[in-house]
Amino acid sequence: MSRETKVDLQKRVEEILDLLASTYPEAHCELHFRNPLELLIATILSAQCTDKQVNIVTADLFQKYRSASDYADASPEGLEQDVRRIGLYRNKAKNIRAACQALVEQHGGEVPRTLTELVALDGVGRKTANVVLGNAFGIEEGVVVDTHVARLSARLGISSETDPVKIEKRWMSLVPRDRWSILSHWLIWHGRRRCGARKPDCAGCEIRPLCPSMTGSADERKTVAQASIPKPTPESHEPGQPTRRRSNAGRVPGI
Ligand code: SF4
Repeated sequence: MSRETKVDLQKRVEEILDLLASTYPEAHCELHFRNPLELLIATILSAQCTDKQVNIVTADLFQKYRSASDYADASPEGLEQDVRRIGLYRNKAKNIRAACQALVEQHGGEVPRTLTELVALDGVGRKTANVVLGNAFGIEEGVVVDTHVARLSARLGISSETDPVKIEKRWMSLVPRDRWSILSHWLIWHGRRRCGARKPDCAGCEIRPLCPSMTGSADERKTVAQASIPKPTPESHEPGQPTRRRSNAGRVPGI
């Protein structure tokens, strides 16, 4: 198996994304929200918690709390009780109150639209900021790297890094900016539906001819190898290589 050149890697990434786009044409953020504030709250709550559980809790939460001041003025104990079915709820409730107090005091109660302002809020890191910017505002500032994106990045031979920022930069160097948001949705959807952490469904995987981590029988491997996928060399690609641009095939999610 030959070493994968930069050009080969670029081509393979494009093919992966094309296949994921056709596999998941409806891919979108699976957190329920109606406005930027609700997405910010839902994303803070989603750390180490499933989107499904967050959606169960926010169904009631978003009926009770409508504005940043509602959260900012809430009693600590009251807000804790309202999110108690989420893991790490005490810390998350504390961060939500503090973040919303900052929104009221510094941003007129609105969610800011820049990465710098967002990451200055309590409980908001680069991942949460990217989720809000990409999905609530349609601003392509970065690539959301969660556990699924990190796992897929390693298995696909894109990045063996464990630092989410390094993984994010790697994808940003390989994929056109107008696909940064939808890229993370495709990878997250694939990670949830096909390429699970413990038992990847390589036999049914739509992108297996392009994946160096594909598992299966010797015959299956031989068949897939006919696609002549070269051995990837993670981190070999230099940022700034030109890529074919196309329109964002996904949609900016609402609910
Ligand atoms: S071939 Fe297997 S390891 Fe590779 S992306 Fe598909 S499910 Fe994951």
